[in-house]
Amino acid sequence: MKISKKYSTGILMFEVIYIENNLLDNPRVLEILKRYPNSEIKNIDKVEDVFGRVKKPYLQKRINLNLFLGEKKGQLVKLAPPAYGLSGEPHYYFVHAYNCIYECNYCYLQGYFHSPDIVLYLNHEEIAHEIKKVAADYHTQNPGHTVWFHAGEYSDSLALTSLSGEINHYFKLFKNMPDCNLELRTKSVNIKELLKEEPLENIITSFSLSPAHRIKNNDLKTPSLKSRLEAIRELNTKGFSIGIHFDPIIYDDQFIESYEELADQLLENIPAEKIRYISLGVVRFTKEVYQKVQKNYPESDLLAQEFVRSFDNKIRYSRPMRLWMLQKVKQQLIDRGVSKERIYLCMEDTELDPMNKTHD
Ligand code: SF4
Repeated sequence: MKISKKYSTGILMFEVIYIENNLLDNPRVLEILKRYPNSEIKNIDKVEDVFGRVKKPYLQKRINLNLFLGEKKGQLVKLAPPAYGLSGEPHYYFVHAYNCIYECNYCYLQGYFHSPDIVLYLNHEEIAHEIKKVAADYHTQNPGHTVWFHAGEYSDSLALTSLSGEINHYFKLFKNMPDCNLELRTKSVNIKELLKEEPLENIITSFSLSPAHRIKNNDLKTPSLKSRLEAIRELNTKGFSIGIHFDPIIYDDQFIESYEELADQLLENIPAEKIRYISLGVVRFTKEVYQKVQKNYPESDLLAQEFVRSFDNKIRYSRPMRLWMLQKVKQQLIDRGVSKERIYLCMEDTELDPMNKTHD
């Protein structure tokens, strides 16, 4: 499919902007509209009335993307699956966006929604209220424990923050919640909004990294490894907390050398002791997402991998292969001075719905 010029220039455009009626005077909405004077505007009652109602093929995001602005309803903060992050601590996630401007060819979002259009939910006060409530309830039962919150489960946590404008909001919130951590997981280098804030130890920006050639082959339209490493360096130098995900790890005949090189490159940009954690996860798919990869990226070398269909129908490397790959990369990091307590493995046992995904 030919990529439309308006995307290839890197300037994101939206064909139609759908706005919930109750947000027509919202200052953030007005700000967003100023940036897209040429988009058609449509008023709607609720995002769910229109978004995904008519199936829109995933790859249409290359030529036509719409934006939805609304308020998230229902359960705003959800418990993440066991051992989602560092073990022994509870993990919750909240949703303030659907979909992503990037196009990683393994991304679980291609099998998740009926549309690749972007949804931004703007009711951050309500989400914040719920985060405080969840943390307070947990701390009543478990005083002194750290509670984790994760942003962007269905999107990239930083890519659109200049538009969505929530970063300041969450910095203010977590400044007063020192016994809670917030993880912003990203492949973006859009750190502009972060740099406006005073760094907080309990807000961790975590970057997903892969060897440069894998980023080129698989993380379509994302920033290069070099620019992600530069963003890491800059944030670390300015005192921001950094986490790293080597995820998804994909096997190829340069696997060992390319992960050695990646570890070296990472540690040239940030000292091992400044990395709060490194998670390692091997590529995996639900059956539905794998079928989408076959359809959307028939030429991808992902499809030439030796995967097996597991007992639960999920598509992965065989268990011995997964263990070998994870242990190999873990050892490479340990050999370079990363403490083993800071490395955790995303094993299949922890890959439970709804977040059995490979993204960010
Ligand atoms: S994997 Fe993450 S960064 Fe890539 S397209 Fe999906 S949500 Fe976006």
